[in-house]
Amino acid sequence: MTLRGKVALVTGSTSGIGLGVARALAAEGADIMLNGFGDTDQIEKLREGLSKEFSVKVEYDGADLMKPEQVAAIVEKTRTILGSLDILVNNAGIQFVAPIEEFPDAKWDAILALNLSAVFHAMKAAIPGMKAKKWGRIINIASAHGLVASPFKVAYVAAKHGVVGATKVAAIELANDGITVNAICPGWVLTPLVQQQLEDRVQEFSTDLAIETEKLLREKQPMLKFTTPESVGAMSVFLCSDAAETITGSPITIDGGWLAQ
Ligand code: NAD
Repeated sequence: MTLRGKVALVTGSTSGIGLGVARALAAEGADIMLNGFGDTDQIEKLREGLSKEFSVKVEYDGADLMKPEQVAAIVEKTRTILGSLDILVNNAGIQFVAPIEEFPDAKWDAILALNLSAVFHAMKAAIPGMKAKKWGRIINIASAHGLVASPFKVAYVAAKHGVVGATKVAAIELANDGITVNAICPGWVLTPLVQQQLEDRVQEFSTDLAIETEKLLREKQPMLKFTTPESVGAMSVFLCSDAAETITGSPITIDGGWLAQ
C-alpha cells in the first residue's frame, strides 16, 4: 500500500487503459477520482466496487474534457471532495482514421481538444497544489504514436507528439519541485478504442476478427501480443514510487518492440 494517503485523478477511467490505471493506483491505497463517459448505473457499480475492493475513497465526475472549463473544474472538485490532488493521470483520448484530404475538420478539432489541450489544461490546474505540497506525479498516456507516425491518423499522431513535447516542458519546469512528469507510450492495447479499429478493418477487407487482429499486430509490433491495461497500471504505480523519483520527462514505451525498429 505505497500510495495510502495520496489522491489520484485518472481521466477517461470508465474504460480501457484508464480503468486499468485507476485499479492499480487504488490497489496501492490511493483515493481515486474517476472520469469518463458511460452508463450511469454501470459507472456507479464500478465506483462502489473499486472503493469496496481496495478500501479507498472513490468518486466520479463526468466532466467533458474537451471543454477547458470542465477540466479546471474536475481538478478543483478532486481537491475539494478528496482533499488533495497528488497524482494526475491524463488518459482520456479518442481516435479517428482517414486520409488527410478526407479528414473532417470537426474530428481534427475534437482530437486536438481532448488528446492534447485537455492535458495542458489539467496540468495547469494541478501544478500549483502539487508545488505547494512539494510532491506530485503527472503521467500522460501518450502512445507509440507520440514518437512515430502511421498513415491516416494525422490528428492522433500530431496530438500525441504534442503530449510528449508538453511532458518534457513540464518535467523541466518542475524538476526541483518534487514533481515528476512522464509519458507512457503504449503500443497496441486491446480496448474499445482498438476494438473499433479492428471491426472497421473487418468491414473494409471482408475478413474476420482473428485475421485482422493478427495483421494489426504484425504491421507494427515484433511481439504479436497486446499490452494490457494492467501493465500500464503497473508502470504508473512504479512512476509514483520513490524508486522513480528521478525519472522525469521520459516517454516510456510499453510496445512489444514497436519503437525498436
Ligand atoms: P477507451 O476508448 O477504452 O477509453 C477512453 C476513455 O476516455 C473512456 O473512459 C471514455 O469515456 C473517455 N472519454 C472519451 N471522451 C471523453 C471526454 N470528452 N471527456 C472525458 N472522458 C472522455 O480507450 P483506451 O484505448 O483505453 O485509451 C486510453 C488512452 O490510451 C487514450 O489517450 C489513447 O490514445 C491511449 N492509447 C491507447 C492505445 C491502445 O492501443 N488502446 C495505445 C496507445 C495509447
